[in-house]
Amino acid sequence: MDVGLFLHNGSCNPAFLKLDLYCKGLRIDASCELGDDAREIIRNRAGLGSGLEVVIGRDMYTNVPVVEWWVQNSPYWLVKRGQAPRAVPDPVSLGTAKGSGTLREPDPFTRYEIWRENKPFDYAAYDALKPVGKGPWVATLDRANATLVDTVTIPEEPKWYKQRTSSGKLMQRIGCLQGTYLGVYWGPRCQNWGPNGENEYCKFCTEGQNLGSQEEAIKSVADVVETAIAARRESKITFVHVNTGFIDSNDYWGLFEPLYRELKSKTNLLLGLQAPPDADFENYRKFKALGVNNVSLCFEVMDEELFKEIGPGKARRGGLKRYLEAIDFCANEVGFDTVNGEIIAGLEPVESSIAAIDWIVDHGAIPTVCVFRPVLGAAYGKRKPPRVEDMLPVFQHFYKRCMEKGLPIGIAPNVKVSLIMLPEECRGLMPNPDAYPIRRAALWFAAKAFKAVFNARVKV
Ligand code: SF4
Repeated sequence: MDVGLFLHNGSCNPAFLKLDLYCKGLRIDASCELGDDAREIIRNRAGLGSGLEVVIGRDMYTNVPVVEWWVQNSPYWLVKRGQAPRAVPDPVSLGTAKGSGTLREPDPFTRYEIWRENKPFDYAAYDALKPVGKGPWVATLDRANATLVDTVTIPEEPKWYKQRTSSGKLMQRIGCLQGTYLGVYWGPRCQNWGPNGENEYCKFCTEGQNLGSQEEAIKSVADVVETAIAARRESKITFVHVNTGFIDSNDYWGLFEPLYRELKSKTNLLLGLQAPPDADFENYRKFKALGVNNVSLCFEVMDEELFKEIGPGKARRGGLKRYLEAIDFCANEVGFDTVNGEIIAGLEPVESSIAAIDWIVDHGAIPTVCVFRPVLGAAYGKRKPPRVEDMLPVFQHFYKRCMEKGLPIGIAPNVKVSLIMLPEECRGLMPNPDAYPIRRAALWFAAKAFKAVFNARVKV
């Protein structure tokens, strides 16, 4: 079976749509009212979450590029259908001193849809596109020459985004939802951005520009714990993923220990750590003992020369070998629930991304495979994202290797990630999605059991 945007029955293939949207982005039809209907677009955490949160199908969360210059050529459009909200009398204010106030009653049939222009994607025009301008790219779609792809959901902004912590900070600036989990940056600005590491930042990253502008530069343990509790209560999060950049000492245990101790004891949510390799690998045993469930190490590319070129600070302060040793140690010596090695497909040749996936899987860890997103403000912001045709074999290989190796994918309850293709989502990219029936059944039972244990233990 050919893998493409539509299945043989004519319905949308959500996995392919998610992948292709990472590669091409989404233009906005003038009918959309994202200011009212969507979560605010926040560029944070290295910049990957710089897009619009969208749910494809039942629960495939994705963060779609909408503001980058290269999106202006996308064949995909977001369209709002249905009537505009109408004014109706407000029963609460009727007969009061305030008189007859009104409410905005939404049309119950309002929905968002993704459409695709009928003409083939013009790579020549795309290659000729110049890096100018900033979206969102709003215009009016010519629907007569476009095809409805699928109805999608635009997740509302949670109310806790506008709540304040007891220190007065806006919770949205402490952490944000990236799909269904809470993402938080912890610690000082990555030292690759200065004061002594100028020009050593990773070339795809904007973290040094985001901290302090898009998110709070200084957060207390209480700020994060209060935000996590609010997000658990309203958004039913199960997982808090905390990341940081380089600190000169590489003592990430010292940096994170007070935060994780308090988060675990107050919430018992699942906790993830994403940091450069610790100065002392024995500290990973302490993280595990404290209740950290997942460790993620981002080495981005397997090609040693590209590793140095893309992340000079990362190469000087850590080095590819150190990242790989840390993954091996965490997966095989410590044994967290899961360990991830993170790469960015599109920054190196396809064969090299595939070699990285093989290395990670062969060492008992799970690959996290991002699609390179040239974000505004990054050193690589004027590049173009990779072609979906090149990404497809990478993600097919990713799924195949995870299933063959029997890795524990898709087990954590309600963890839908908008920034990446989850390994289990890549099943929809396979020529034969029905393969591995026994393994899939085993994962289904493991997920049910894990969820029951989590629900029994969670404190909020
Ligand atoms: S290590 Fe690289 S990707 Fe991570 S925050 Fe620092 S500059 Fe950005």
